[in-house]
Amino acid sequence: MVEETDLAPQCSAKGCRAAASWRLHWNNPKIHTPDRRKTWLACDEHRTTLGSFLDARRFLREVVPFTPSDGTTH
Ligand SMILES: [Zn+2]
Repeated sequence: MVEETDLAPQCSAKGCRAAASWRLHWNNPKIHTPDRRKTWLACDEHRTTLGSFLDARRFLREVVPFTPSDGTTH
């Protein structure tokens, strides 16, 4: 899990340093309130990998395009 920082937005996949182009919004109902959204950033390649990981756990809520200028958190 990677918090968004003021560094160049990178993919949240372990070991991947590609620029992020997607935001995956997710929620773990066991630890988060229903309206809480965590965000992972993903490159094109890992959008599927990370999305499948979250979807398999029923955590995935939505996937939206990410642009670096869209730098707001939460
Ligand atoms: Zn990646």
